Amino acid sequence: MEKDAIIKEIERLKKEKQALIVAHYYVRDEVQAIADYVGDSYYLSKICRRQPENQIIFCGVAFMGESAKILSPEKTIVMANPSSDCPMAHMITAQKIEEVKKQYEDLAVVCYINSTAEIKAHSDVIVTSSNAYQIISRLKERNIFFVPDEHLGRFIASKLPEKKFIFNHGFCHVHTSMTQKALEEIKKQYPDAQVLVHPECSSEIITQADFVGSTSEIIQYATESRQKEFIIGTESGVLYELRQKNPDKHFHTIGEKPYCPNMKRITLEDVLYSLKYPQGVEVEEKIAGKAKHALMRMHELGE
Ligand code: 13P
Ligand code: SF4
Repeated sequence: MEKDAIIKEIERLKKEKQALIVAHYYVRDEVQAIADYVGDSYYLSKICRRQPENQIIFCGVAFMGESAKILSPEKTIVMANPSSDCPMAHMITAQKIEEVKKQYEDLAVVCYINSTAEIKAHSDVIVTSSNAYQIISRLKERNIFFVPDEHLGRFIASKLPEKKFIFNHGFCHVHTSMTQKALEEIKKQYPDAQVLVHPECSSEIITQADFVGSTSEIIQYATESRQKEFIIGTESGVLYELRQKNPDKHFHTIGEKPYCPNMKRITLEDVLYSLKYPQGVEVEEKIAGKAKHALMRMHELGE
């Protein structure tokens, strides 16, 4: 099928089934273009709860759809490509969390949303890169076990010296593959450019940035800035929205275009297939109940 015909069929089926299509900023440009809502992890988790549609086609990785299902169990959440998963979500075990809980009395387990439902069920509160600072600063516990991402954890810890952080060695292979050398090279080419990076980057990149934030915060910063030249330290999918919103500005990446293979796996054909043959995400009830508590705390403390 030709691309235009696929898009037409997606539009027709979406209306017929009264479905909603949501997408993360890292998916392919053409998938972002047909989505009703595109956003960062926090925004997407809010949109799925808020919108009236009962069937949601999710163009993102597994933990995002799982979180949407836990928060809205009455809705059918269909992953556009069910094989798209985030490796970082699996870089911590429930056993490790329980071991650390035994070692500290005054402890909160703070879990990045890039995690499995099982891990969320063992955690006290969920955070995303856009609300982690605010939420952790509001917790009464002094000891924070931050899972699974070490880099985001260390970045937030640097802003909250009054807390004692315990880290887990989880990481995003896309963000940690951006090197200091590659950043120096691109900075040499564009010395006046502002450097905007995601907190999943390693500290050698973060310490050289003018701004550190989630995907939507990076887009907002660049859009509101008077600068014309930017070096962007996150997955290259954000360039689509950055260029749509800022046709007069220039955006460069650090090294080879950073590419998340799991996000980029999602195609227009997948969206069409998932509308035709929807298979809803399922989360075991016992796990879903506990994970929902931690996710709801994020929504309460993050507002
Ligand atoms: P955001 O919440 O900033 O969109 O990040 C999601 C993610 O997977 C980063 O790699
Ligand atoms: Fe996971 Fe990294 Fe891909 Fe984000 S960019 S979904 S953290 S692998």
